Amino acid sequence: MSIPTTWTIDYSCGHTGDIDLSKKRVDQRAGYAKWLEQRDCFECYKQKNGKKESAERAKERAVELEKVGTWEERSGLEDLDGSDKQQAWARVIRGDILAGLYDLYVESGEHDEEWFESKILTPARMIATCRWWIDNRDFELPAFPELLIAGADSEDGNENVA
Ligand SMILES: [Zn+2]
Repeated sequence: MSIPTTWTIDYSCGHTGDIDLSKKRVDQRAGYAKWLEQRDCFECYKQKNGKKESAERAKERAVELEKVGTWEERSGLEDLDGSDKQQAWARVIRGDILAGLYDLYVESGEHDEEWFESKILTPARMIATCRWWIDNRDFELPAFPELLIAGADSEDGNENVA
């Protein structure tokens, strides 16, 4: 009697599938087939892992947004104009940029809190769109004092957004 090359596996997820074991040594096929039967089929494995990953990522994003939210409240920063997805992204960008600017100019002793309030936070509060933060995210931090003033005065400023 010859050892089959195609084995039918009853996966633990309940699916059944034929698998080609011709590349396995004849005396290893039964053991390998048994091992496969303790596992989910490939489709179920992929789906479960994909779900876990996106659930974890969503949780991380929620934690990040909550942190940003607390800080926004303290800094008097309003919600931005844009879709939910854009909001999530743009608010984190805004938080990163403003925190970076605080480190760069205030923590370093170059400027005081009052300077930060009038030159950074005041124009930042006036920028009302997600789009502005997303479009400008790649500029270096020292460009922002000027960018913020320009942004507050542009069509993305809250006086000009409908
Ligand atoms: Zn399955």
